[in-house]
Formats: sequence, structure tokens, C-alpha cells
Amino acid sequence: MKGLTYDVIVIGGGAAGLFSAFTAARRGKRVLVIEHNHEVGRKIIVSGGGRCNFTNIHTRAENFISKNPHFCKSALAQYTPEDFVSLVKSHKIAFYEKKLGQLFCRESSRQIVQMLLEECRRSRVTIETSCSVSDVSSTGEHAFAVETNRARFEARNVIVACGGLSFAKIGASDLGYRIAAKFGLKRTDTRPSLVALVARDKFAGLAGVSIDAVAATDNVSFRENILFTHRGLSGPAVLQISNYWSPTSPVTIDLCPDVDVEESLRSRSNGVSVAVFLSKFLPDRVARHIAERASFNGNISDLNKGEIEELVGAIKNWELRFIDTEGYDRAEVTLGGVSTDELNSKTMAAKKVPGLYFIGEVVDVTGWLGGYNFQWAWSSGYAAGNAI
Ligand SMILES: Cc1cc2nc3c(=O)[nH]c(=O)nc-3n(C[C@H](O)[C@H](O)[C@H](O)COP(=O)(O)OP(=O)(O)OC[C@H]3O[C@@H](n4cnc5c(N)ncnc54)[C@H](O)[C@@H]3O)c2cc1C
Repeated sequence: MKGLTYDVIVIGGGAAGLFSAFTAARRGKRVLVIEHNHEVGRKIIVSGGGRCNFTNIHTRAENFISKNPHFCKSALAQYTPEDFVSLVKSHKIAFYEKKLGQLFCRESSRQIVQMLLEECRRSRVTIETSCSVSDVSSTGEHAFAVETNRARFEARNVIVACGGLSFAKIGASDLGYRIAAKFGLKRTDTRPSLVALVARDKFAGLAGVSIDAVAATDNVSFRENILFTHRGLSGPAVLQISNYWSPTSPVTIDLCPDVDVEESLRSRSNGVSVAVFLSKFLPDRVARHIAERASFNGNISDLNKGEIEELVGAIKNWELRFIDTEGYDRAEVTLGGVSTDELNSKTMAAKKVPGLYFIGEVVDVTGWLGGYNFQWAWSSGYAAGNAI
């Protein structure tokens, strides 16, 4: 045991990994971070359109999806959005609330990476970039060997922080799941999430139209914009729904959340076509699409009771079937991951393997769109770094 080089090796220099590294190092631990990209924090850099939506001030356990909805509570309580905001302020990074509690950097997401690197530097964390981990093995209780393309490193503790499967082009790999499997830890099914959905029906002519709407499935609903694409739907409301969607559950869309369409139709004026009438509260292209889809080519005053009901349904309760997602290459996160049954919720330690920890996106805890996933990265990173 004496020969071990580090107290902690962190696999993955992303949001969770860097946070856990300086948290442990501040407590006097010798910490090594191993990152296979040539620089750390690439997902942070591309996040939030280059401005990193680094937390959400309304973060609660209800904003996360996991087989165990209570699992995230302890870590979120140990390190809160307010704690992260204090850190950001202490580094004099200007930020603003865009909407719904979502905090973004005013200038650049690179400032968040610089902040994490500065904290690592101050606490003497060693960081190896362009170094790819291929395997982790146990060399005794609380002793691990980490194989890389450059060298074999040893440590008493290993924190697995190598993320999920989304955006392989900026470094995602399945290493975290392979390490879990090797140590006999279960994982839940994984799939792309916070991602655009591919519809069974195509919306020719609507691609590019964005409207404020309510998207709902299985008892959850989100009111934000939806965006028609060539293959289906995107936009914040649909990305949120993708966390809950399954091929067997239809998604319903209310295209006019603030309008009592039935009432408007009752007081309709004569002499205009259905499409023209609908364009009072919908973009022209959407109004035409709805009228054509239901073959309402005539005058609004000619609609009978049944047709009015059908029209109201088409606008307020449009039921859509999606057949797929746009895949990991376009997904902000991976839903599912290392089973929370296997981990201690206070410390993120694997219950069966002393010294092995899993944090961030590799764990079966997935946040809503809006800064929640980074908050999970900071909080779970803190919990592990503080426990070692
Ligand atoms: C385009 C995009 C925009 C996003 N915007 C936001 C946002 O604004 N707000 C928000 O809350 N969330 C956002 N997210 C989600 C957020 O980025 C992730 O949830 C978060 O980065 C997860 O942190 P992590 O540390 O667990 O994983 P990651 O940040 O993915 O870090 C894992 C690290 O491990 C490294 N790695 C992988 N395999 C190996 C290996 N074999 N050897 C060595 N290193 C390895 C990777 O290169 C990577 O650096 C966005 C995601 C994407 C893709």
C-alpha cells in the first residue's frame, strides 16, 4: 500500500471529475486527473451555446430522473446551487439568469473551465491530458491500478467521472460502464436524452417554425418553445419531454396554451377560411398545416359541431407518435447509467468495492434541461471528493 502514487485517481477531466479532484485535494489528498482529450472540460466549453448554463437556482430532486428519485437528494444538499454561485462570484465571473432560474456566463463558458483549473492548481491537483484510460483493476483492498496509453498509475481510490455516451466527437466513451461491469456493478438501460425526437409523420413545410407550446407525456408537461425540424420536433419543451418519452407513449402538444380555441371558434366571424382564422393565433404555416391535415378547406362558418371539436383537438391536444431520437451524436445527455442501488448516496462510493466511486453523468441520475446536469456534476463531485 505504501508504494501507491496517489490517494485518488479521477478518470475524466470533465465537470464532475475536476470538481471532485480539487475537493479531495483541498483536504490534503494527492490527486491525479486523467483526461483523454488534449484539454479538460470540452463539454463545458460547448455547453449553453458557449455560455454554459452552469446551474439552476430552483434545483430540486424533482428535476432529476433516476430509478431511485431520492438518490440525488443527499449530494444536492451537500453542495447547492448557491454554493456554486458563490464560487463563480469569488472568481469574478459575470453571469445572468436567462429564464426559469437558469444561470449562464455573460461572456464565455471557458471561464468556468478556467475557474475549475484554477481551483485544481491552487490545491495542487495533477492533471494528465491526452492520456486515455483503458482499464482499472483492483490490486487489493483500497488499491487500484489504472492502465493508460502512457503509463500505469496506482491509487488508493478511483473516482470514475468519464461521463455518458453523448457527443463522442468531444470525448464521450463507454469506459465508465465497462469499469462498473468489471467490478460487478449493475447499470440501468441507457439511451440518448435531452434530444430532438423523430416523428412517424413528417411535417413538410414546417421545418424551422418555433412556437410557445405545452408538450406532455405520461403525467409530465413542459411549457417552452417547440421547433419543427425536417424529421420531427426539437426545441426546449421537446428536449425536456425526451427525458420521459418512450416509443409506446404518445406526446401531446397544446399549440395555443393561452387561447381558449373553442370559445374563439364559437364567436367566429363569417367569411374567412379555416387557415386564415387559425392564423390569428398560430404562425401562418402551422395554421395552413392544421387546416390541410384535417381537410378543412372551406369557410370557418361552415364547420359543424363535430368538426369544431376535431379542430380544437388538433390544436390543443395534438397527439404525436415519435419513433426514435436523433441519437447520441445530438443528445445533451445519456439517460440511465450505473445503478444507484450500487452506490452510497452520501459519498457516491460503490457499496461492494471500497475505494471506487462513480459521479456525474455516468450514474443513473439525469437532470432536466436548464443547468440541472451541471449542478449534479458539481454536487456528486463534491460528495465523492469530500468523502475520500
Ligand atoms: C452540447 C451540449 C450542451 C450542454 N449544455 C449544458 C448546459 O448548458 N447545462 C447543463 O447543466 N448541462 C449541459 N450539458 C450536459 C453536461 O455537459 C453534462 O451533463 C456534464 O458535462 C456531465 O459531466 P461529467 O463530468 O459527468 O461528464 P463529462 O463532462 O462528459 O466529462 C467526462 C470526461 O471524461 C473523459 N473521458 C471519457 N473517456 C475517457 C477515457 N477512456 N480516458 C480518459 N478520459 C476519458 C471525456 O473526454 C470527458 O472530458 C450539455 C451537453 C452537451 C453535449
